[in-house]
Amino acid sequence: MGGRSVTHPPSVDALARDLATRHELPHAVLVDCARRAVSEQPIDAVALADRLADELRRALLADVVNATGVLLHTNLGRAPLSMSTSGRPSALEFDLATGSRGSRQDPIARLLRILTGAESAVVVNNNAAAVMLVLAALANGRGVALSRGESVEIGGGFRVPEVMEQSGARLVDVGTTNRTRLADYSRAIDSPTSDIALVMKVHPSNFAQIGFVESTPVPDLATLPVPVVVDIGSGLLDNDCPWMTARPHGGNMHVPGWLRTEPAARQALADGADLVTFSGDKLLGGPQCGIVAGRADLVAACAAHPLMRALRPGGHTLQLLQEALLHFAARTACEAIPFWRMLTTDTETLARRAEEITRRAGCGRAIATTSLVGAGSAPDTTIDSHGIALDGDRTAALRGHVVPVVARQSEGTTILDLRSVDPADDGIVVDALRSLGAP
Ligand SMILES: *Cc1c(COP(=O)(O)O)cnc(C)c1O
Repeated sequence: MGGRSVTHPPSVDALARDLATRHELPHAVLVDCARRAVSEQPIDAVALADRLADELRRALLADVVNATGVLLHTNLGRAPLSMSTSGRPSALEFDLATGSRGSRQDPIARLLRILTGAESAVVVNNNAAAVMLVLAALANGRGVALSRGESVEIGGGFRVPEVMEQSGARLVDVGTTNRTRLADYSRAIDSPTSDIALVMKVHPSNFAQIGFVESTPVPDLATLPVPVVVDIGSGLLDNDCPWMTARPHGGNMHVPGWLRTEPAARQALADGADLVTFSGDKLLGGPQCGIVAGRADLVAACAAHPLMRALRPGGHTLQLLQEALLHFAARTACEAIPFWRMLTTDTETLARRAEEITRRAGCGRAIATTSLVGAGSAPDTTIDSHGIALDGDRTAALRGHVVPVVARQSEGTTILDLRSVDPADDGIVVDALRSLGAP
């Protein structure tokens, strides 16, 4: 735009063609940036158009490196996943043996039966949808007994009373905020006005009560005369984590205490829960989805509800979920599922990578640090890790790298935690550090 003058703003078309020399965006998108820039700021439209194009480019969904040390980072899409679809169709609703219509969900239900003991299962788009579907299908217009201490909000606007209201079920508060006993549930069920269809138990996930507290465990709830639904949340399949303790290639690991105490599908069902609901992209380490698993008749009622058509996931989601479940069954989860690989990487390996990265980048200091599980799971648990420290808050500059690197900052020090970084991305971290020119 060498010939531009302050009195004649550039034409939208000329400006868009000029932008094309600096921005890799489709022409129609650049025309839109140019048009907005010319109308908002005709005198210096070029600079504004450049900024709008940059902003749009950066706002598009793109890969980032998660160096925050939060393994399931809610704002970075929770569990990382590598997509490997051939692009060919899959036999999503087609029975290859008979050539007739089949179910997209059957094989996944069978894998979940093997992994959790559930009689049956159905998959929807997320766990909020799973809870909504269960309530709509099994308690529409009727009461659901829920402890006052479990009437919680879980990140991202999942508020149990609101989901309950939207589903058409009626929340019946039982007990008190800090203590709810079996007798409280019994009283609600025996009350002629409350018409209780279900007892629900919700894992508070990112919220804990201490002191004078009491909640009713699942085996006790299972003695009640109505079905018990447990929203376990994070999708741990089995507290014994057989994919850690009996790995096919040896190197068996000790199961950390927090995984022993996190609510798990197999144990909740064995304790007598009639249904469990959980997310696919938290501790399961799979794609975003929600799972309802348990008694076959109750799962069938959920699957037959009209909402199911609106909540069902696409074929790619089911394929990725199936892949994750096969890795749990084969006990290869700690090698093949990115979340489990990050979680179980030994600290010596992380320390070596930190040394290597600082050496190659010529800046930063290798340090010991601690990671978090994230996504509301095990909020009090820290996991030993190693990373790179830089003086000052360099997080904005790191986010500005070609492949944005998301780090954390604390008291004037920037920390890149390597437990949440795939080793294949160490080269990107080196480039990002070099481009800072930092000490
Ligand atoms: C995370 C969570 C949810 C919401 O799950 P989404 O998959 O985000 O919809 C619901 N209940 C519990 C207990 C959770 O931990």
